[in-house]
Amino acid sequence: MTNPTQQVWLPDLVYIDGEFRSDVALVCDDGGRIVGLLPADEVKLLAENYRTLTTLKNKALLPGLVNAHSHAFQRVIRGRTEFRSQHSTDSFWTWRELMYAAANKLDVNDIYHASKMAFLEMALSGITAVGEFHYIHRAPNGIAYEDANLLAKEVIRAATDVGLRISLLRVAYERAGFQKEANPLQVRFIEDADTYLKNLDSLMIEKSDTVNVGAAPHSVRAVTLDYLKQVNSFVGQKECPVHMHMAEQPAEVSACIEEYGRSPVALLDTEGLLHENFTAVHAIHVTPKAIEAFARSGATVCACPTTERNLGDGVVPVDGYFAAGVRVSLGSDSQNQIDLLEDARELEYHIRLQRKERNVLTPPDNHNASALAERLFESATSNGTRSIGFKAAPINVGAPADFFTVDLDDPSIAGSSHDDLLSNVVFSLSRTAVRDVVVAGTHIVKDGLHGQQVEIIEKFKDLQSRLWN
Ligand SMILES: [Zn+2]
Repeated sequence: MTNPTQQVWLPDLVYIDGEFRSDVALVCDDGGRIVGLLPADEVKLLAENYRTLTTLKNKALLPGLVNAHSHAFQRVIRGRTEFRSQHSTDSFWTWRELMYAAANKLDVNDIYHASKMAFLEMALSGITAVGEFHYIHRAPNGIAYEDANLLAKEVIRAATDVGLRISLLRVAYERAGFQKEANPLQVRFIEDADTYLKNLDSLMIEKSDTVNVGAAPHSVRAVTLDYLKQVNSFVGQKECPVHMHMAEQPAEVSACIEEYGRSPVALLDTEGLLHENFTAVHAIHVTPKAIEAFARSGATVCACPTTERNLGDGVVPVDGYFAAGVRVSLGSDSQNQIDLLEDARELEYHIRLQRKERNVLTPPDNHNASALAERLFESATSNGTRSIGFKAAPINVGAPADFFTVDLDDPSIAGSSHDDLLSNVVFSLSRTAVRDVVVAGTHIVKDGLHGQQVEIIEKFKDLQSRLWN
């Protein structure tokens, strides 16, 4: 049976169920779903019966990468925080001052163009879906826009225009911190609980096949327990993802113990606020008991190792999380570098440096050549999809047609065999190897180029020269 509305993709290799298979064609319907995995010879004979048949010669096709934690606008400060500030030492907190200064300069249009630049780079690196932890809601003077979701909608529009799936995780931000004076640099983020829930509810109208909406109480520092409980009961009714920064910095943990007599993870655990739709972003400074709490509740941890090393946050104890069966997803977070496979390999590398061992995250007693790469790749794909509330990512019938291809002759992976190709992709792939990116059946990156690439970069260059010159 053939169907003239269907598209066929014909790569040399397809990554299905943990292995690369040859001579398999992907048949996709016009709704952007995979409806068949057929022998290549069979579809070639019937080529004229399909709308398109795209041969992806000398390429391997893999499920799209999922970036579960992004602040798109922070792309504007890339390279602009790598110097000694007025403080005697620099840290996350001094970086944050520079980031806030940028956040307060951006108008509605700037947010759109900065986001588009970040999303373009994501697409070019094989990312097909993003969880955007979005916290700039108000005008720079602290007054709400006429449409309180104006900026959230601009970020959604930027992702949609680039062609990515997006889960807009709308941030709740109540205060500067426990016993802290209001910070004038946070006026664009602040909303009381009633206002926040009303705005989050009205943003739900944006949901579609490629747009999801979730809640994101910023951190225990920025949101009190009462507020958090209100967000949680709303989330329970809507069944949407909820993300929260947790234990990124030791100072956040000690302030939480001072306020509640419990660490951030213990607080959420004892209050029944950890659950399967919950993702703790960072979760670095935690105890073995906290790791158990995540495992018990089915919550996900989202590690952002490229940002965490850039900010000097510390190392996510992924050896503990993997051993306890906690799902770990990945995020590009501050956008100092957008390369989710680099994040995947760092999960393992940071632990190697700490423990002076190799292949630490490999499942116990599994000596398969690609067992470690499979685990890390799962963090970069299906664990992220689940974390941001989209349906399954692996290549299979019924799954969304979200995938990317890699050039098997790219110098970074050339010479791979079926057995070591995934390890090469996870540990060594350069972005130059990413040739095609398809989201919901739409071919957004062809031959390593995005159709709007020149225009997006030009607009971004204009924005940067206006902001910084
Ligand atoms: Zn973050």
